[in-house]
Amino acid sequence: MSDNPREELTNLAVALRRTVQRKKTRFLPGKKGPWLSKPLKTEISQIPPLFTPESVLSSFTDNPDLSKAERLARLRDHIGDCKRCPLGVSRIQLAFGVGNPDAKVLFIGEGPGYAEDRKGEPFVGPAGQLLDKILAATDLSRHPVEPSWKWIYIANMVKCHPMIDPSDNTKRSNDRPPTAEEMAVCSPFLLAQIRIIRPLFIVALGNTAGQALLKTEETISKFRGKWVDFTVEGGPHPIRFMPTYHPAALLRNSSLKKVVWEDMKNLKAALEAAVQP
Ligand code: SF4
Repeated sequence: MSDNPREELTNLAVALRRTVQRKKTRFLPGKKGPWLSKPLKTEISQIPPLFTPESVLSSFTDNPDLSKAERLARLRDHIGDCKRCPLGVSRIQLAFGVGNPDAKVLFIGEGPGYAEDRKGEPFVGPAGQLLDKILAATDLSRHPVEPSWKWIYIANMVKCHPMIDPSDNTKRSNDRPPTAEEMAVCSPFLLAQIRIIRPLFIVALGNTAGQALLKTEETISKFRGKWVDFTVEGGPHPIRFMPTYHPAALLRNSSLKKVVWEDMKNLKAALEAAVQP
């Protein structure tokens, strides 16, 4: 303490400035600080959570003056060069979705990988090529076919590539499942896609998508192949929902092919019963 009020005021001002600078430094991107040691949770908490008001969402999803293809295009424009979660910083291309805007079946995977990040389309790497073979064996396709109920749509829980090391997006084998936080931030986009497409059936591909959509901690071996009713807020109707194994799991363990084939036969039977008079 100083007896001189002027000197004391100066000391207080200096101390205050130091405190402010210290606080600012902690949150400067790129600076090493204690918050970088636990990157995901802390980084996400620094990004404002995605808030898509119902009025904005419904202008894409429920506008009767627009075709489903136009509504999906509006939604894609709304997502833009999204950086609402950290995946947006490291991704090369956002993989929005592919297929029939009026699909009866929607497949949902966990997130884009290396190949998808480069092409901007879900399921185009080795797992995607296997998915195409599974679809062909079930008489379905991501490409336009007749009758159009065989033309499906494919999307992911998150639209951008989750990487183990996000500092180098050129690395191979750098994939990881999306975190619960990343899926939560991106989920309004997937829900909007579901509301627009209004599928009769959803097939979740893999443990991550199955757990997230069923809101369960059970593992896929427990819930695969089981049909449940799935409802989206503001959505059309209960959608028949079934999880099965991710094609990447089949590449690692070919004994899973048999159960996936059983699940796909069930899907085919249910779809044919729903679309045929
Ligand atoms: S994953 Fe979804 S929320 Fe995150 S940056 Fe990509 S589009 Fe945006």
